[in-house]
Amino acid sequence: MALTLYNTLGREFQVFNSLVPGRIGFYGCGPTVYNYAHIGNLRAYVLHDILVKTLTRRGYQVTYVMNITDVGHLSGDNDSGDDKMVKSAEERGKGVLEIADFYTQAFFYDTERLNIQRPTVVCKATDHIDDMIGLIKRIEDRGYTYFAGGNLYFDISRFPSYGDLALLRMEELRTGARTGPDKNKRNPQDFVLWFTKSKFENQALVWDSPWGRGYPGWHIECSAMSIKYLGEQFDIHAGGIDHIPIHHTNEIAQSEAATGKHPWVRYWLHNEFLVMDKGKMSKSAGGFLTLQSLVDSGYEPLDYRYFLLGGHYRSQLQFSFEALNGARNARKSLLDRVKALAEKTGGIPGLEETEAGEYGKAGVYLEAFDAALDEDLSTPKALAGLWTLLRDTEVSPQAALAAAFTMDRVLGLGLAKEAEGVWNREEDQNFIQEITILIEERREAKKNKDFGKADGIRDALKKRGILLEDGPSGTLWRRE
Ligand code: AMP
Ligand code: ZN
Repeated sequence: MALTLYNTLGREFQVFNSLVPGRIGFYGCGPTVYNYAHIGNLRAYVLHDILVKTLTRRGYQVTYVMNITDVGHLSGDNDSGDDKMVKSAEERGKGVLEIADFYTQAFFYDTERLNIQRPTVVCKATDHIDDMIGLIKRIEDRGYTYFAGGNLYFDISRFPSYGDLALLRMEELRTGARTGPDKNKRNPQDFVLWFTKSKFENQALVWDSPWGRGYPGWHIECSAMSIKYLGEQFDIHAGGIDHIPIHHTNEIAQSEAATGKHPWVRYWLHNEFLVMDKGKMSKSAGGFLTLQSLVDSGYEPLDYRYFLLGGHYRSQLQFSFEALNGARNARKSLLDRVKALAEKTGGIPGLEETEAGEYGKAGVYLEAFDAALDEDLSTPKALAGLWTLLRDTEVSPQAALAAAFTMDRVLGLGLAKEAEGVWNREEDQNFIQEITILIEERREAKKNKDFGKADGIRDALKKRGILLEDGPSGTLWRRE
């Protein structure tokens, strides 16, 4: 089986191949840090995490880059509305960077609680203004810009494949009424690369540039930072579906205009929205749910992760507390099952490296699990695979746990921690130590061909309810 992903560019399933064998460059649009992430935003980052962990499991070395937007993002992605950062800072009576720091930390606290692995590179927009200016100069030198009303614009009419990602038709765009809010734009879809005449008095953060003192448009940061850390062409870019028609469309136009290379990104992945009864959850509209609000209502963060994995990332997911309760109960049963299996064993040697392939039937389940993820990261099927494994009483507890933990290195539901809680119980420690010593003595005896002693140890342990099983990773023990 090969990993197949649904590529928004071209709207089809494609077998994944990396640009450079064994390595992957992946860019995921990060948060705009003017407020807490809502649970809808977190859906996007759980997808990124599943993607990175699946690729890592396939043996790739993944460089995962995430930006932190702390400048330039207006409430309308098409240059309209308020500056999100500035507005939030004013409302809270704080500085913009102070607000950015606070919500960046809050964001990573949430992602950590959701078992989301830290990106390889986390880059702040305000630390990369020079890179953005450099990229804008390249776009300008190649003739894709015009200056009007104090701002530098990208001219989409110079870029014939504009809108390919979103299946926008160029003719329709051009004949569209020129009645956007910004009268300086030649085409309504043109977008600002650099603002000097800010529509906001007292813009908090401004920098010198060849076009005057000002600040960058929102889209340019993702082009500049991804190119800086991943090169002029890379493998995968992800974000929510709202980004297809404007943000990602503009990112492609800028990047390919600057470098002349096509395609800039080879696979585009977009997650569908998490919706509430009232419709889309929105950070700027307020009244949204955060991870902390779920914790305050008595849920564990990983209950929410379980809930998310129960839906495929390209399907809209309806949030409700009934559904979250269902996820919590299901995860609790999963943990209870893991605990029960852990009670029967004293641990798994070399837990981190153990592949269930060594353990017969459990390996078959692991293959099915991998096949589920190969199908465009089908987490619902992968979860079902985990359940089938844990329900099969023919699989030995060690093999079941080894396979389950291997699966959980992608799913991230905290299974190993649960088992370790059992194995590390203080009252068991002496007994476990004693068994470990006896297993070692038996190994020595067998090495010295003293099979009488070796069998004696096995029988003595059996009388105490401990069964030994010799396998490729050494001798495992479990309770009868
Ligand atoms: P933002 O911090 O607003 O820039 O958004 C961060 C990420 O969350 C982006 O990839 C958005 O596309 C995504 N996103 C925003 N709202 C939702 C939602 N309700 N469900 C899923 N993803 C969302
Ligand atoms: Zn972006």
